[in-house]
Amino acid sequence: GEALAVSARVAPLGSRLVLLLVEDLTEARRIEAVRRDFVANVSHELKTPTGALSLLSEAVMDASDDPEAVERFAGRMQIEATRLTNLVQELIDLSRVQNDDPLEDAEPVRVEELVAEAIDRCRQQAGSKQITMASGGTAELFIWGNRGQLAAALGNLVENAVNYSPARTRVGIAARRIVAPGGDLIEIAVTDQGIGISEKDRERVFERFYRVDPARSRATGGTGLGLAIVKHVAASHGGEVTVWSSEGQGSTFTLRLPESGVVREHTTGRPLIV
Ligand code: ADP
Repeated sequence: GEALAVSARVAPLGSRLVLLLVEDLTEARRIEAVRRDFVANVSHELKTPTGALSLLSEAVMDASDDPEAVERFAGRMQIEATRLTNLVQELIDLSRVQNDDPLEDAEPVRVEELVAEAIDRCRQQAGSKQITMASGGTAELFIWGNRGQLAAALGNLVENAVNYSPARTRVGIAARRIVAPGGDLIEIAVTDQGIGISEKDRERVFERFYRVDPARSRATGGTGLGLAIVKHVAASHGGEVTVWSSEGQGSTFTLRLPESGVVREHTTGRPLIV
């Protein structure tokens, strides 16, 4: 409607300009809608734990002469507070990866360290589900990038692999170098034997707050922001993240990132760029 009215007004200026204007309007409107959705989503996500905290604190006060009930409510308050902290932290991470240029303090980042860190981060949860974690091919590979952001990205993928897998399965992390005309790439693939992702959902899991099963995501402390962060980190490093999945069989998330020109190690233990 509005776009058509505008196009009618500027029609004498030529059809190409009209087209550009209409496209601009559509794009501006799309961006505005995305921004509005994001604010609505954040508000909604904040409301759940804050609402619960306020109800639980009332319940604690009412139950002051019943120590067992107080303890129960306090335990639930702790869960909600953790949920809130996670959400705020992931929002900070997301805004950082969206706004900062990661290559400003880029350095050669050792893939072996990234993988070890990601596995460490999930060790406790994997252990409680008896999930085996294994990695291979990481030796002497370096990525050119921002250490903190790369660690967050890989950590999110491994965390998801553990979260969305049943007990007594395996999570594998495999790395290799790919020779490419525009510069060699490092590929890191995280494979699980978990619930998988349908074709319809595969396109959407990288969107902020998109979850296939919101209840399951929340139960494992998920915020729905992890893969959006991974996608941003990959893109801003000049790389990409892709997903392959078979429902009920498992998923593989693959990061491809620019290789760093490190070929040997200095005696100080610091990588030497040659
Ligand atoms: P969350 O905090 O919910 O895990 P993410 O952005 O990391 O948010 O992931 C978005 C959604 O994608 C998840 O809620 C889940 O439904 C799905 N997902 C992510 N990783 C996997 C995986 N390895 N296996 C199956 N589903 C996954």
